[in-house]
Amino acid sequence: MALIVQKFGGTSVGSVEKIQQVAQRVCETAQDNQVVVVVSAMGKTTDELVGLAQQISSHPSRREMDMLLSTGEQVSIALLSMALQALGQPALSLTAAQVGIVTESSYSRARILEIQPDRVQRHFNQGEVVVVAGFQGITNREDLEITTLGRGGSDTSAVALAAALQADYCEIYTDVPGILTTDPRLVPEAALMSEITCDEMLELASLGAKVLHPRAVEIARNYGVTLMVRASDSDQPGTKVISPFAQARSLSGLEIGKAVDSVQLDTSQGQVTLLRVPDFPGIAGRLFGEIAGQDVDVDLIIQSIHEGNTNDIAFTVDQGVVNTAEAVASAIAPALRSADAAKEAEVMTKPRIATVAITGAGMIGRPGIAAQMFATLAEAEVNIRMISTSEVKIGCVIDEADSDRAIDALCDVFSISASPVSPHAHPQNHPPVRGVALDTNQAQIAMRHVPDYPGRAAKIFGKLAQENISVDMIIQSQRSRLMDQIPSRDIAFTVSRNDAELTEKILQNLLPEIGAQDILLDEDIAKVSLVGAGMVGNPGVAAKMFSALAQQQINIQMITTSEIKISCVVAKSQGERALQIIHEGFDLGNY
Ligand code: ADP
Ligand code: ASP
Ligand code: MG
Repeated sequence: MALIVQKFGGTSVGSVEKIQQVAQRVCETAQDNQVVVVVSAMGKTTDELVGLAQQISSHPSRREMDMLLSTGEQVSIALLSMALQALGQPALSLTAAQVGIVTESSYSRARILEIQPDRVQRHFNQGEVVVVAGFQGITNREDLEITTLGRGGSDTSAVALAAALQADYCEIYTDVPGILTTDPRLVPEAALMSEITCDEMLELASLGAKVLHPRAVEIARNYGVTLMVRASDSDQPGTKVISPFAQARSLSGLEIGKAVDSVQLDTSQGQVTLLRVPDFPGIAGRLFGEIAGQDVDVDLIIQSIHEGNTNDIAFTVDQGVVNTAEAVASAIAPALRSADAAKEAEVMTKPRIATVAITGAGMIGRPGIAAQMFATLAEAEVNIRMISTSEVKIGCVIDEADSDRAIDALCDVFSISASPVSPHAHPQNHPPVRGVALDTNQAQIAMRHVPDYPGRAAKIFGKLAQENISVDMIIQSQRSRLMDQIPSRDIAFTVSRNDAELTEKILQNLLPEIGAQDILLDEDIAKVSLVGAGMVGNPGVAAKMFSALAQQQINIQMITTSEIKISCVVAKSQGERALQIIHEGFDLGNY
């Protein structure tokens, strides 16, 4: 007999008939297993409740919002229990308060602290199926204040219950056959994946947020929960989300455990930069195509915002092949001269650099972590040459001479005892590209001419973290220019469009203190990301992505990469097209 958690999303319990079908399925599983069922509110109930609140107030209190929104799930748990009982299956419904799902006291996006297993176990012993309300929690057992986990949070409830009850596995039932190579509403050819790793899923968070709540993936990854995403109206196996072998973790502080689980240092790389590249489609594709043609694997790629009408493209490669990469860049440079640019592009090489990176699923939605990394480096008097971030990793390029100081300080502040020296584990049997995602809810902000000495990035991102603004895709450009005799660089990043105005205001206020020149805000952007654990050691993936965009005359405004992800910022109006052609270019429809 196995212990199984089954979660059914809103569309799967959208009507009485669907609830009865779900009951049928649960009944079958309960024949020879212990089953906990987690359900969302019926259909669009939660949206309708939000609509009601908005008719009364444009800024309703977050406490009352949680009180309101949590009612949706209370309806569906009761109806599903009745349907199970009608089939002769002993069952009962429990709210989060009755189970004891304790969260932080922050309304509307509370993280789970712990789940008491005893009551659920008691009902198991009586042969009952336990139906639990997803999405909700309580602050503590005295006040019983109701909280919610954030929209889409029932997935997180389900996986957290699976971890707390040490379930054999957790199944997420939804209205698609599983996790697809991209959003099927944007690309009808999207194909089903039979499996995906937790890290890949987290990197696809903007896509994953729709089909699977990223925090659910984070818990699965941290606790080694076996997770399946399946269609509620078929018996097909769906997609398996593969967790790494989890280290033993305490079940208290479930969602607020360590945000950072490794600190990595890599001193095997050198850096090549192409400065003043004219801003039109095709150059990144050509550069990285020719580099891949020499069989050189590129690790980190960063393209900064345009300044005037030129970009800088910087990348790192193994020290042994820096010369090859430099030669390719130098051969291309003379041809790169924009119509009104006085100078042609120029190549700059630094044969030895170091990269320090922190990784961890818990960084998502915790803006303080990046700020803490930058502040720690500043205190250790380490100057950051370049920054590149992804959902689960923040990497900084620094001078090699600073690496010991940097790594000691970071291990200390994030309580990491041993740091793996090489981050380059070549995953085996992973396809180079797993899926693509589009995020059209971001805005791009740049602070130009930030004086280049330790502590500037820490100050900027520390301030934003205080306001709880999450930043994504931070890029610090390579080019260092003199501003009133002081070397300066540009820092660009993306934030959720909802936070764009506030971010701009905060940065404007910081300008005099930082001594930077000005702020540029661009709200008309889209971010396309390509993810796959097998792209490590597979030269040419980046070039193929950039060339596919160039063939359609889509200009790339920013590039960042991590080991398993490449993200490009393009004009918003071209986002969907970009997603479609990348999906097509990698033939993902025939997955
Ligand atoms: P539920 O109500 O079951 O939680 P959601 O609406 O939250 O369902 O998530 C499922 C939806 O996510 C699908 O109907 C699909 O439109 C959307 N989606 C976006 N990207 C993907 C993807 N890569 N794979 C599968 N579904 C996706
Ligand atoms: N009902 C909640 C929502 O619509 C939670 C969920 O469906 O996961 O966001
Ligand atoms: Mg959902």
